[in-house]
Amino acid sequence: MSTSLPARLAALEAEVVACTACPRLVAWRTAVAARPRPAHDGDTYWARPLPGFGDPDAWLVLVGLAPAAHGGNRTGRMFTGDRSGDFLFAALHRAGLASQPESRERGDGLTLSGAFVTAAVRCAPPDNRPLPEERRACAPFLAGELALLGRATVVLALGSIAYDELRRLGAAPTVGRAPRFAHGLELELGAARPFRSGQHLLCSYHPSQRNVFTGLLTAAMLDGVLARAADLRRP
Ligand code: SF4
Repeated sequence: MSTSLPARLAALEAEVVACTACPRLVAWRTAVAARPRPAHDGDTYWARPLPGFGDPDAWLVLVGLAPAAHGGNRTGRMFTGDRSGDFLFAALHRAGLASQPESRERGDGLTLSGAFVTAAVRCAPPDNRPLPEERRACAPFLAGELALLGRATVVLALGSIAYDELRRLGAAPTVGRAPRFAHGLELELGAARPFRSGQHLLCSYHPSQRNVFTGLLTAAMLDGVLARAADLRRP
């Protein structure tokens, strides 16, 4: 008997949430939860790994770096409860992919249509810098999601670490070598699992508070990348 896609995603989600493979990150996600910021005093932190979330039939998969210590690590949902998420979900809402422009907490009513949001690493790392061995340990979860999201025709890397991890998973152009990360970079991928022939990989600067504050990434730039992703969408 075949298992439904939502059930397979739920099984992978359970595996992610139970993971304790990286001792440094297990210690960090727990330590952060024990010292909430004043703004979050009284909140019960999630303090576990985060699975991706969104539409199982997504045509667009967005891949970030890792949960923020007081964002996703607090709320239990990717890009939820921090400024990066505010910027990202506002853009997804403008593009018609998110039901609302804000993302405060799990259960806030946000739904994604045609999009799935995930990350290269599932536990909040100190200084937002996972170690190479932590990135390697977490890679199978991203590979598993990409393999299950069979309708995805565009993968959007948010930042150079997400791009590097996708390349390490096998994302490669049909001809030649993959170039270095650049905002607006676009590759048509060959069929190396978990990718599929004809899938496109796009790149954007990460919507981090610093990138947005310094103007490295503007709302118009992110809107432009999402519009290009929509152009590349295949039925
Ligand atoms: S970063 Fe990934 S592999 Fe490491 S403990 Fe968290 S979920 Fe597990």
